Formats: sequence, C-alpha cells, structure tokens
Amino acid sequence: MPSRHTLRLLPILMLLFTLMVLSGFAAHRVARQLGLADLQTTGLHRLDLYTASLEREIGKYAFLPGTLGLERDVLALLGKNDDGSLAPRVNAYLEQLNERAGTLSIYVIDTAGRVVASSNWRRADSFIGEDLAFRPYFREAMDSGSGRFFGIGTTRGEPGYYLASTLANDSQTVGIAVIKVSLEQLEKSWSTVEAPAMVSDENGVVILGSVADWKFTTLRTLDETTRSAFDQTQQYNRRALKPLGLNEISELEHGARLVSIAKEAPEMASVYPVTGRFLAQSRPLPGTPWTLTVLSHLKQVDDTALTRSALAVLATALLFMFGMNINERRRRLKDRLAAREALQHAHDELELKVAERTVDLSAANLLLTDEISERIRAERTLRAAQDELVQAGKLAAIGQMSTGIAHELNQPLAALRTLSGNCVRFLERGDLATTRSNLERIAQLVDRMGLINSQLRTFARKSSGELQPVSLQRALDNTLALLEPRLTEAHAEIQRQCAEPGPVALCDINRLEQVLINLIGNALDAMHGQPAPCIEISCESAGRQARLTVRDFGPGLDEEAISHLFEPFFTTKEAGVGLGLGLTISAGIIRDFGGTLKGANHPSGGAIFTLELELSKLSDEATGHE
Ligand code: ADP
Repeated sequence: MPSRHTLRLLPILMLLFTLMVLSGFAAHRVARQLGLADLQTTGLHRLDLYTASLEREIGKYAFLPGTLGLERDVLALLGKNDDGSLAPRVNAYLEQLNERAGTLSIYVIDTAGRVVASSNWRRADSFIGEDLAFRPYFREAMDSGSGRFFGIGTTRGEPGYYLASTLANDSQTVGIAVIKVSLEQLEKSWSTVEAPAMVSDENGVVILGSVADWKFTTLRTLDETTRSAFDQTQQYNRRALKPLGLNEISELEHGARLVSIAKEAPEMASVYPVTGRFLAQSRPLPGTPWTLTVLSHLKQVDDTALTRSALAVLATALLFMFGMNINERRRRLKDRLAAREALQHAHDELELKVAERTVDLSAANLLLTDEISERIRAERTLRAAQDELVQAGKLAAIGQMSTGIAHELNQPLAALRTLSGNCVRFLERGDLATTRSNLERIAQLVDRMGLINSQLRTFARKSSGELQPVSLQRALDNTLALLEPRLTEAHAEIQRQCAEPGPVALCDINRLEQVLINLIGNALDAMHGQPAPCIEISCESAGRQARLTVRDFGPGLDEEAISHLFEPFFTTKEAGVGLGLGLTISAGIIRDFGGTLKGANHPSGGAIFTLELELSKLSDEATGHE
C-alpha cells in the first residue's frame, strides 16, 4: 500500500509530468515552426539562385537556332536549291558551330521533318536523313516558330535539351534549326549547390538533379496513357521511369510542402542526405514547362526542435522544483512567522497578565494595607471602646452595687456611732476594759470600711495593660469581697475548690476581677429565685495553664445562647438589667491575656464557664495588687 507521503506526492508528480509534457510539446512546436520558417527563407534564396543560374545557362543558347536563318547556305539547302556542294558545307559549318558553342549537336530539318544537315554528319549514326517529324519540338516550332523540349536522343540515347527555331526565307518557312544542349552543361551551374535540387519536366519526370540517381525518376505515378504517349514521342527513349518515392506529407504556406523520400536499397551515393523528410519548395522555370524544386532536409530543424523541447522539459522541471522550493520556503517562513507571532502574542498576553496582576497585586496590596490599617484602626477603636466599656461596666457595677455598698457602709457607721457613744459613757464610768473592747471593735469596722473603699477604688481604676503574675486565689478573694453584699442578699453559697498554693497566672488582676465579677454575677442571675443558690468555683494548674471554673445550678445555656454567647449585646435578660456586654468584654480581656474563656453546660445541669490563662513562673508565690 502506498504511504501517505507518496499519496500526497502523486498529484504533484502528475502535475509536474503534465507540465513537462506540455512545455516539451510547445517548445518542440515553436522551435519547429521557427526552424521551418528559417528553412523556408533559405530555400527561397536557393530557389532564386538556382533558377537564375539555370535561366542564364539556357538563355545562352536560346538565340543560337535562330541565327542559323542568317546563313544563306542553310536556307538554300532547306529551299532544295542544293547543287550537291551545299550539304557538305552546311554540315561542316554546323560541326564547327557545335564545337564552338559546346552543345551536343546542331542540325536543320526541312518542313517535312527530315534532317538535312547535322553537326554529327561524320558519325555513322548521324542524324542526316532521319525523320524527326514526331518530335514535339518540331511540331511546336512549326506551329509557333520555336520549340523547346527535353528528351533523350533516339539515336544515341543521350538526354538533352532541344531548342528549335523556324528558319524562313522571304517570310516562308523553309525548315527548322535545332540545338541540343547537354544536361550536364546545364548542371554545371549547380556544382556548388548546398541542398539537393531537381528539375522536373511537365510530366513530373526528373530531368536534372543534383543527385545523379534521381534523374529519370518520376515524382508522380504515371498512368498507362501517358506512358504510351512517351513511347510515341520517344521522349525518354523507352527508359524505365521509376518513381522517386517522394510522398507529400503536408502543404505549407507559399507553396512549400513537407515531403518524405523513402529509403531505397542500395543507398544512393550523394553528398547530401537523400532520404528522409524534406521541405520542398518549387518554382516553374520561366520559358520552359519545367519546375525547379529545392529540397531542404528537416533533420536539423527536427534536431533543434528536439533539443529545444528537451531543454524546455528540463527547464520546466527545474522551474517547478525551484517553485516548489520557494513555496516550501515561503510556507516555512510563514509557519515561522506565525509561530513567532503566536509567541509574541503569548508573550504580550503574559506581559499584560503580569501587568494586570501587578496592578491587581498593588491594588490588593493597597487594599490589604488599607484593610490592615483599617483593622488596626478598628482594633484601636475597639480597644478604646472596650476600655470605655470596661470602665462603663465597672461604673454600672458600682451603680448596681451602690445600694449594697451604702447598706454595707451604713451598718459599720451606725455601729461606729453606737460604739463611740458607748465608749464615752464607759470612759465616764471608768470602765476601761469595755472601752478598750469597743475601740478595738471600732478599729475593725474602720478596717472593713477601708477594705470596701479600696476594692471599689481598685475596680474603678483603669488597668495599666501590663501583664503580671496574679494569684487566682487572691483575685477570687477580692471579687467575692466585692460581691459579698449581693451574695448575702441572694443567700448564695460559694463552694471553692482550690488546692494551696493556688495557680499564678500572667494577667492584670483588676481586669481579671472584672471577668470574675461578671461570671459570678451571671451565675447568680441564672439562679435568681432559687432558695439556696450555689456556685462552685475551682482553680487549678493544668500543664502550663491555670484553669478556673465557675459553675452554677441554673437552667444552663440554651442553643441560641451557646451560639451567640460572646457576641456583643446578646442578652436574655430584661431591658435595663442586662446589656449583653459582660461576656463579650470578659472574653476580650482574657484574649488580651493570651488565654481562653469558654461557656458550656455541665453534664449534671447548670452552666459552667472555664477560664484558662498562661501560668506564671512564680506560680508558688501569690502576688497581686492590693
Ligand atoms: P448580660 O449579663 O448583660 O445579659 P452577659 O454577656 O454577661 O450579658 O450574658 C449574656 C447572656 O448569657 C445572658 O443574658 C444569659 O442569657 C447568658 N448567660 C450568661 N451566663 C449564664 C449562666 N451562668 N447561666 C445561664 N445563662 C447565662
């Protein structure tokens, strides 16, 4: 099976083949036409040349027969006025004239057609006495005054050209003078011809030819009537007139023809090619019924046409290959350009994308920077707000606690008044021991009041923000002290489970207390209405963490509370009671400490809040602010 490559090549090869054939054919045709035109021109020149030389040669003798009419002896002989001496004289005269003119023979015939005197009178086969009335030139001359004839001699069988002219004495025709010119004589002028030439007579018989073997061949086939007529006139003296074998191939312009001459064995001896194809150009010879034909061999034209055709085929193949090559190159160049363009396009696109991305990136960067600065701003604002809220929360707590505080302070104040009043009276009585006991009691009460005051101050104070080791126990103590009025009021029980020494975490005690107040406060709120509310508080160290839990026995956290527990302003409490900020602030504070605050439901009921802070290295040393 042919490969795909071969299948692709097939139409190209077929096209190449067709082009080669066409170009070869066209080149052959054109070269042949041009060659033929050239040959025709040369042939015409030759025709002119040969006609002129032949005419000149014949013309040389044309006047000769007529001049015999100037000879008195000749006229007298023909006029039958011979006294017996005339004939030898005329014969001698004719003999001399024949010799001088270089003709074959000269003789005179009387009106009956009998030869009365002849140049060859000495020879045994002399014409004298011969009856030549049957010869066409005799009759022609008798009819028109002159006659011309080609023929072969009847006595010696010598071919020649007969020129006859009537001789008249006192305008009466007395006879005819005849000159026979040898054909060789005429052919002399052709000794230098470059191409084969021939002269055929009115019967198509070649009488003169540059090729000896062509003589007495016929150019056309003779029918029987013509042949029997020849026998009568003995024009060709019964020679076998063989056909030359000339076949006409085609007729060209200006009477030219393409002919072929068949090869006949044995080969004719000639300096020219005598067989093959020729360009034949003919022309009638003026003053004769003859036709001169010049043959130019076509071999050279054919050879040139073939060479040109081969060159054209070669040139076509080369041009085709060149074209294919150029086409292939152009295709490759196009591919390369397309590839380069695609590459450039891809490169441009990539650059564009990079530029876009860079712009995006810068925009994103800007946005990010903006966002970061926004965040920082928001954080700051939030922190400020948070601080404010913490502060507000504290103030709110103080507000809440104010009743309790007032109550708390009123009691010792009332006790102080009573005790101080009693002291005065006991001093007056001189009861120093009771006075002393009263004063100690007063001092205790003042201490307690100072403690409440200091706690309130601490709570209200803004935090420094610095993390310090804080004992959770201490923070819890402070918180419970602060919440004591509330706890007492609610009859709440606090169950502390803290192993000594309690954990020390890194934080800010004030803010941690704030968180614890909030968690314990929420626990109390959740158990509001319970007769004996209980809050379990534990603190312990777990690994690197300090953990504190506040658990109540309230209803616990429902689903909504769990999912929104640390969100600001989430509250289930009545308006004015809860703001929903407690856990949010608490979680924020613990986060600031780096710890966590989580709310969940205890498996045995109630809510449990777990607070985890990073343990300080000083975990065994209870530290904190007063
Ligand atoms: P507030 O106390 O002002 O409502 P918080 O942030 O402290 O704000 O509490 C938010 C909400 O979380 C409360 O309204 C309550 O519904 C719920 N919550 C907090 N602690 C407890 C708890 N111990 N038991 C049940 N619910 C609680």
